[in-house]
Amino acid sequence: MPSNQVYWETIPTFEPEQAALPKRTDIAVIGAGYTGLSVALHLARAGRQVVVFDAGGIGAGCSSRNGGMAGPSFHKLGSAGLMARYGEEKTLGILREGLLALDYFEDFVKQENIDCDLQMSGRFRGARTAADYESTARECQWLNTNLGLPYHMVSQVEQRSEIGSDFYKGGAVYHRDGGIHPRKLVLSLARLAIAAGVQIVTDCPVTGLRQNVSGTELETPKGNIHAKEVVVATNAYSDGRTPAMHRRVVQIRTAAVATEPLPAEVMASLSPKGRTLGESGRIFMWFRPTPDGKRFIFGGRIGKPGGDLATQHRAFSASVNRVFPQLESVAFSHIWSGDVAYTTDHSPHIGFEDGVWLAGGYCGSGVTRSLYFGMKLARKILQQKDADTAFDDLPFARVPFKPFSRSVAGWMTKWYAYQDARDLKQP
Ligand SMILES: Cc1cc2nc3c(=O)[nH]c(=O)nc-3n(C[C@H](O)[C@H](O)[C@H](O)COP(=O)(O)OP(=O)(O)OC[C@H]3O[C@@H](n4cnc5c(N)ncnc54)[C@H](O)[C@@H]3O)c2cc1C
Repeated sequence: MPSNQVYWETIPTFEPEQAALPKRTDIAVIGAGYTGLSVALHLARAGRQVVVFDAGGIGAGCSSRNGGMAGPSFHKLGSAGLMARYGEEKTLGILREGLLALDYFEDFVKQENIDCDLQMSGRFRGARTAADYESTARECQWLNTNLGLPYHMVSQVEQRSEIGSDFYKGGAVYHRDGGIHPRKLVLSLARLAIAAGVQIVTDCPVTGLRQNVSGTELETPKGNIHAKEVVVATNAYSDGRTPAMHRRVVQIRTAAVATEPLPAEVMASLSPKGRTLGESGRIFMWFRPTPDGKRFIFGGRIGKPGGDLATQHRAFSASVNRVFPQLESVAFSHIWSGDVAYTTDHSPHIGFEDGVWLAGGYCGSGVTRSLYFGMKLARKILQQKDADTAFDDLPFARVPFKPFSRSVAGWMTKWYAYQDARDLKQP
């Protein structure tokens, strides 16, 4: 497995026992990330026979390589964008669901005794421009009035109490945000699923799906299996073998770097309150201390999209030095990349499409949402009453000109980066 991710170093590999494939199962889940393992766990606990397949190991996709930032992940369109598109009632429903997902996530981690370094220490989001500060303050006020979201604004003169940088024009602290260790979370989920009776088959891509009157025949290198229901939980790691998801998401490459271990006083100065950190701007960049508090991680869609890691490395150095010039001589010990799944309406989706159940398209914010959607998707399959979400009636549209979508996303990233750089030059 890849060793360039900082998360892999201290966590022992977990390879589930590989038993023979049964000929039939109630439910086959494709993808052993947060979504697939969450849905599998809830179905197995409800007495269903569940087999999960992953083309790699557990968490081979995003679920062991992400930033581990957990929060309500409201919506990429923001409240104003949602209001313009859906009106007030639907907007509030969608945003409320973000808080429900976070409540569920926190309760689940606590109730199941999951050791994933959950620390809800808040997030500081720096404003790159004075205009960003004003719009952030308006958005936060709206969220506080309408949803009770706790926050406070931090002026530029006070911001050293939140971040070891003078780059920002102040910012906002979101009290309901925090962080987890992504790989610990996905491995714990796998252990819970196995304890509930789920069979996890690793290094076994599902290569074909043939629907018939009684369900679906899945083809795999380890043999075929008949399932009454199929769940596709492949998110950004979809390809032509899981077309229901693949056709509906744009895969966007994103990367992250970790510094070598830093002295405790440097770590304390970068994030004095141990918060996760981010910034305004079209190209989202995030930073955080590693869960063990020894290194700093920086991530985002920077550098040449989809470019090689050496190029990404150089781009990260420039971006990190912009915010934290004191780290100029600090070396990065790890660099890794991963794909996130965007959708045409900037919204995550859950439901039934092209004969399979699916949940995904988290647009880069899936840590809390994927566990919640996994639980909701299980309830839908079980036809339970409280299965509804505010996302159910949003059409999960196919991506037009899908074969070109990665290139288009790359060009858009460059355009956004240009606009972000231009904004910084405004007085
Ligand atoms: C660098 C990076 C940083 C991120 N940071 C954050 C963050 O800080 N906060 C946040 O909320 N979100 C973050 N995300 C997004 C988040 O990680 C994802 O939304 C989430 O992990 C999605 O989980 P998933 O289970 O749906 O998909 P994945 O974890 O990607 O799992 C999909 C699985 O499907 C498998 N698969 C694909 N095709 C097949 C097949 N044919 N047969 C069998 N298996 C198959 C893959 O091997 C993979 O393991 C980040 C993502 C990246 C890449």
